[in-house]
Amino acid sequence: MKYTKEQYEEFDVSENDDIDIRCRTTKLVKTKKPHKCCMDRDAHIIPVGTMAVRDSAIVDGKWSTVYSCTDCIDKWYDECRLYEPQRASSESENS
Ligand SMILES: [Zn+2]
Repeated sequence: MKYTKEQYEEFDVSENDDIDIRCRTTKLVKTKKPHKCCMDRDAHIIPVGTMAVRDSAIVDGKWSTVYSCTDCIDKWYDECRLYEPQRASSESENS
């Protein structure tokens, strides 16, 4: 986990505006059962006891819950550069 609980819970996987999503809530949880990771194209299994974001919402009128593991969210945030990496900036100011 590279980011804060709040940053993980802000995570929004829904890119499609055509889907009707309501009552959406996200929560960072430790998994108690194995779940498929919705961030992964191959839907790898998130093992029990892993930190993951549980994402519940009414999608097109039906309740749906998906899980995204923090590893995949880390990668996604890295690619999007949504958040600045936290590192000392002493060198960059002089150059
Ligand atoms: Zn994953």
